[in-house]
Amino acid sequence: MADSPNPFLSPSTLPYQLPPFAEIRQEHYRPAFETGMIEQLAEVAAIIAEPGEPTVENTLIALERSGQVLQRVATVFFALSSTDSTEFGTLLEEELAPQLAAHADAIRLDPALYGRINTLYQRRDQLQLDPETAYLLERYHTEYTLAGAGLSDADKHTLRDLNMRLSTLTTRFEKNLLADTNDLALVIADVAELTGLGAGEISAAAEAARERGLAGKYVISLVLPTSHPYLASLTDRNVRERLLTASRSRGIRGGEYDNRGLVLDITRLRAERARLLGFVNHAAYVTADETAKTPEAVAEMLGRLAPAAARNARTEQNALQRALRADLSDSTPATDIELAAWDWAFYTEKVRQATFDVDTNAMKPYFELDRVLTDGVFFAATRLYGITFTERFDLTAWHQEARVFEVHNEDGSELGLYIADFYTRDSKRGGAWMNALISQSTLLDTPTIVTNNLNLPKPAAGSPTLLSFDEVTTLFHEFGHALHGLFARVTYPRFAGTNVYRDFVEFPSQVNEMWMLWPEVLQNYARHHDTNEPMPQELVDRIHASSTFNEGFATSEYLAAALLDQAWHRIDADTEVTDVAAFETAALAAAGLDNPVVPTRYASTYFAHTFSGGYDAGYYSYIWSEVLDADTVAWFTENGGLTRANGDRFRARLLGVGGSGDPLAAYRSFRGRDADIQPLLDRRGLN
Ligand SMILES: [Zn+2]
Repeated sequence: MADSPNPFLSPSTLPYQLPPFAEIRQEHYRPAFETGMIEQLAEVAAIIAEPGEPTVENTLIALERSGQVLQRVATVFFALSSTDSTEFGTLLEEELAPQLAAHADAIRLDPALYGRINTLYQRRDQLQLDPETAYLLERYHTEYTLAGAGLSDADKHTLRDLNMRLSTLTTRFEKNLLADTNDLALVIADVAELTGLGAGEISAAAEAARERGLAGKYVISLVLPTSHPYLASLTDRNVRERLLTASRSRGIRGGEYDNRGLVLDITRLRAERARLLGFVNHAAYVTADETAKTPEAVAEMLGRLAPAAARNARTEQNALQRALRADLSDSTPATDIELAAWDWAFYTEKVRQATFDVDTNAMKPYFELDRVLTDGVFFAATRLYGITFTERFDLTAWHQEARVFEVHNEDGSELGLYIADFYTRDSKRGGAWMNALISQSTLLDTPTIVTNNLNLPKPAAGSPTLLSFDEVTTLFHEFGHALHGLFARVTYPRFAGTNVYRDFVEFPSQVNEMWMLWPEVLQNYARHHDTNEPMPQELVDRIHASSTFNEGFATSEYLAAALLDQAWHRIDADTEVTDVAAFETAALAAAGLDNPVVPTRYASTYFAHTFSGGYDAGYYSYIWSEVLDADTVAWFTENGGLTRANGDRFRARLLGVGGSGDPLAAYRSFRGRDADIQPLLDRRGLN
């Protein structure tokens, strides 16, 4: 065993360079990380020591070729830490995190390396570069500059200090939030107060109480957004009020888990760092390296949506108010009862059932996993792009439940591997995601391996896996990311597939969701698992009819959070804010999103995306991508939908380009013009 070679030290000899999962042992990781970092630093040192003038070949391309051992081990290690984690891996990750951060800084903040990149950048007009290489130079220059590579030594020292303090503060924010969320879990003494919940939910609440030493009682744990899913079903109005109030009081109660001071400190330090790097505020610093480019562009887009969203939410509120009064008219003089935030979800469900008769549970028997995958997701991709899928039972991934598919182009040429790992397990983190194990690049002559992870509950042995409406949507969505990875045709590995701006990356995956309910696709896969009957058309019609229902609320609570995130990060370093609640109230009022019945999806003191989750000044991204998504769905629909010609155009002009050029230029090339916001307004009923 001690003599077995470390599989990370050389490229895999398996088909498509599939990592040899069966040979990888725990003891291979640490030495491969160490060797990988040492090797890459030596490669960078050789670039800097190069005696002649810097050239694209001896600097940029040498950088693109560097660090391959580190890349191999890191890709597998971090993929597994999400999908099949071990205690060993968790401990190693904690140990490695600061080392990897220091390794990245040692390269990005090296003055000699930055000097070479900057020299090339200043001469870019004389270098006669092809478009992708010209873009490579621009990206290196921008990324290193924004990281602070061009600062003086004294300023770099200040920057490192700010980064370190910010990382401590954001970690503390996250820890406080977790502790306060646990502390505020709702304890219920009488099971009658849980009326409306299902038997499984009630026994989970009893189990949660037992775990806390409260046997005989019931505990409802809080979830991260303001709204808790149980608010839609709890019939006891007082319990709903207590649940929402607890959710909203996270981080703002005083005491050791109060996050208000951290919100103020984090935003102030971010503003200082932005000033050090030459930007007026943190939002300007962040958006400079997104497709949005400026906070003003973000503000303009959000501002266009907010008034109509708030107006629609008020219309919805009136309907819910009537339903509430009709419901409670026996007990109290009904006209005295005002709809509150904790009533919203509950009466929304009542009105939805009464108006549209939509029960998404009735769809489940028509969504059997294998049919959805093969006759739905793969079928749509074959119709659009001509690609075909063959399961490779001879190839093994990281877990016996992960299935490996080989993907071919219409002409028979190899495209890559698609690995699908759909079931939930204790070693897998929550949610659904795509990642790439190997990214296509003609420079390195690498193939493509992409993966999708879902968290479907495993059915009892012998029973089919039936998906919910949302789970089918998620599978189409994640497969959209997978296609983005598979179709990459770039020179440089850093540009392949989903390596695009954060406010652009969700666009192709959102577009792929459109095929889920496309008649030709739906008819092909949505069949009853027992009877093989197609899904009744009236079920589909009701889904379509209710598509803008409650969108005023959903859009308003999202926009409120996005605007709050922007407001905190448009403070400059000289402005002192002292009162979190007052700042928040003023920001929401300025946007007309201060309706107390429609609270923001996250308030500042529990806004993890913004204060610890890497979406600082970036929470707008979701709706920003959706503008492109809705405009693209309109294009497909206007041009005949599911055709090879449409698929080829989207693939060649957009998906295949990845991050190898200006993404909005790729969009214009595909669409023939800039994106139009109107389809998004239509979709969300915001006209
Ligand atoms: Zn996504």
